[in-house]
Amino acid sequence: EEDAALLSGEYGDEGDEGPLKLDPVLAIIGRPNVGKSTLVNRILGRREAVVEDTPGVTRDRVMYSAHWNGRNFTLVDTGGWEHDAKGIHARVAEQAEMAVELADAVLFVVDSAVGATSTDEGVMKMLRKSKKPVIMVANKVDDFAQEADTATLWGLGFGEPYPVSALHGRGVADLLDHVMDTLPEYSLVEGVDRTGGPRRIALIGRPNVGKSSLLNKLAGSERVVVDTLAGTTRDPVDEFIELGDRTWRFVDTAGIRRRQHMAQGADFYASLRTQAALEKAEVAVVLLAVDEVLSEQDVRILQLAIESGRALVLAFNKWDLLDDERRRYLEREIEQDLAHVEWAPRVNISAKTGWHKDRLVPALDTALESWDRRIPTGRLNAFLGELVAAHPHPVRGGKQPRILFGTQASSRPPKFVLFTTGFLDPGYRRFITRRLRETFGFEGTPIEVNMRVRE
Ligand code: GDP
Ligand code: GDP
Repeated sequence: EEDAALLSGEYGDEGDEGPLKLDPVLAIIGRPNVGKSTLVNRILGRREAVVEDTPGVTRDRVMYSAHWNGRNFTLVDTGGWEHDAKGIHARVAEQAEMAVELADAVLFVVDSAVGATSTDEGVMKMLRKSKKPVIMVANKVDDFAQEADTATLWGLGFGEPYPVSALHGRGVADLLDHVMDTLPEYSLVEGVDRTGGPRRIALIGRPNVGKSSLLNKLAGSERVVVDTLAGTTRDPVDEFIELGDRTWRFVDTAGIRRRQHMAQGADFYASLRTQAALEKAEVAVVLLAVDEVLSEQDVRILQLAIESGRALVLAFNKWDLLDDERRRYLEREIEQDLAHVEWAPRVNISAKTGWHKDRLVPALDTALESWDRRIPTGRLNAFLGELVAAHPHPVRGGKQPRILFGTQASSRPPKFVLFTTGFLDPGYRRFITRRLRETFGFEGTPIEVNMRVRE
């Protein structure tokens, strides 16, 4: 019986302790209009056309969770940037470089009718050098007759080209079978120990909030920001910093330290960086700046952090710029606009003067402790029993759904499963979630409450 399995803790240990294993990462690259976005939609099984003909469309999300034959992988979609005939070589190269840095395998998409172009040449050189597995995709092969077009792609050094029609789905299943054979079981990117070791922090925020200043202040010296031009050599992406007598690992700091050259497509790269950093991190520090709080971009970055399921700390920088009046006004603003993340600890800091920088570690500790926390099944059910006795679910159409029992299915972040005799009202679920937080804390971590309905 499922109950017995649950109570004996069989569900109990998933996702806990042990090495952090991340899904393997597949990046899709290629020139504009070859059909990358269409292929992404096809792979994700999305019906709605995210394919946009309008230039200047910003997409927040560039990494997606995808599945094939019961296996999960992360898809990096590089189709989101604006089409712009000028500078296209540079942009495709930059996109490819970023993808290669992040990915375990690369889908290199060309339009079968066009073949590989001069823009593609530089990219191919870089791909060969990277030694990452590359799968060549000849898209827009809508029928058998067009397969002949792919013959020219054989000689490029990436093996057999896969003829597909992203639009109609033709050949995509074969392609995905091959992708799954190519991808490792878990992501090998970064090779470095993801197991144990210093805790990993993603310091994220829109440009000019003070990420680089804060990093310098925390690292204890004003380092020169080296302007490494896009090339295949990389400075170390992570930085180890001593804070509160411990070492912390700030992930993906190369992206923070390097100045953004590209005005165009910058949003896309910022999102990619942000999501990649979150992916590798255990806790996110979302940096906001008091001179412009909660811009659209702040809100998007915060949303990515929340959705990532990582522990979360909010830091308000440039506090030195505030006078009393402005501070009172701002605190009211923050109270209102951040009601949905009231669970995240907040620290007010000044990266410039170093004011309150020692408040960061206690906030990180709190958030990570919550993120790791596991509530024993007995304790959880005692809590649920009392809660339900005091506040039973309202009767709906003569029926009253009951909670049979609950268990914490995993931690990092904490996820709960409630076994019920009917669907719980969304309002009642929110009530339970709120009470869970009131009772057990969970300051600094998102939590999830799911249901399994016994018919
Ligand atoms: P991206 O810029 O590489 O992301 O390309 P898009 O996915 O936006 O596709 C560019 C254009 O090619 C769109 O008009 C698509 O409808 C079209 N397209 C994409 N895949 C196929 C395909 O397999 N066959 C055909 N005939 N057209 C396609
Ligand atoms: P990044 O783009 O997020 O890395 O931001 P930077 O660290 O480059 O900072 C952007 C600007 O804000 C720079 O001019 C910094 O000197 C300034 N700045 C950063 N932190 C503070 C702060 O705490 N107070 C004040 N007044 N200015 C700051």
